[in-house]
Amino acid sequence: MNSIEAKYFEKKENNNVRCNLCPHLCLIEPGGYGKCNVRKNVEGTLMAETYERASSVGMDPVRKKPLYHFYPNKMVLSVGSIGCNLSCAFCQNHGISQILPGEGKMMPQRSVESIIAEAKGINNNLGIAFTYNEPTVWYEFMYDIARKAKQENLKTMMISNGFINNKPLEDLLPYMDAFNIDLKAFNNEFYKRLSGGSLPPVLESMKLIHQHRKHLEVTNLIIPGENDDPAEFENMVHWIRTELGKNTVLHISRYFPVYRMNVPPTPKETIYEFKEIAQKYLDNVYLGNI
Ligand code: SF4
Repeated sequence: MNSIEAKYFEKKENNNVRCNLCPHLCLIEPGGYGKCNVRKNVEGTLMAETYERASSVGMDPVRKKPLYHFYPNKMVLSVGSIGCNLSCAFCQNHGISQILPGEGKMMPQRSVESIIAEAKGINNNLGIAFTYNEPTVWYEFMYDIARKAKQENLKTMMISNGFINNKPLEDLLPYMDAFNIDLKAFNNEFYKRLSGGSLPPVLESMKLIHQHRKHLEVTNLIIPGENDDPAEFENMVHWIRTELGKNTVLHISRYFPVYRMNVPPTPKETIYEFKEIAQKYLDNVYLGNI
């Protein structure tokens, strides 16, 4: 199968389509792609071009996702594709996330059944993690795999930027056990300028995941001069405690120069200082890349 009709789109005048999967709500002309570069308007129908296309399939420790409070000593079959609905200047996976239109069709083909069979065939495997690139833009394939995985008693995990609309997330929640959401900053201007997105939908997604009692861990990458204001960080951890609970797991991660971002690495002292601030509000705070 080359591609599949996408979920969550509506037909508009002149064969245009509106994609309702993520908050960008792209209006796409015939022959054009959405911002994620993997969803294409083909003669008035939105097609998901990366359905059954995988860039990576491999075993990882669950801890590495990172998920520290969700079967951390188990291994998980990790799968990913290409494309992303954000465009972070500091993306660590820009080789697969920031792609050109049409590149999705060039990847190796995998079926739902083959991924499920691979996951079941591995000893001590917890289940399947959707990771590497942003799984939201791979929604249809992720959804089909996750549904089947639940029937086979496999655990499912989504490692995501949380930039997804409520309806598709609500439809996915019954089939997803755990999430790590990358909360990039508690600052909408940061999201607009450095990630090409916005903050409120990410907060909405986290609240929805929490309300559905799914396991949720949060990652925050601290970038010098961009999101390292202690007061802003304190507002963020206060929000997490208030809206998601003090048991929410927070991973504070140290930045290193990558992709289009070349400010120096985050000083270790900043990370330790932020850990102390976070621990005033949250019970489970960890440091990454230290
Ligand atoms: S998923 Fe892709 S096409 Fe759809 S609204 Fe988001 S960026 Fe646009």
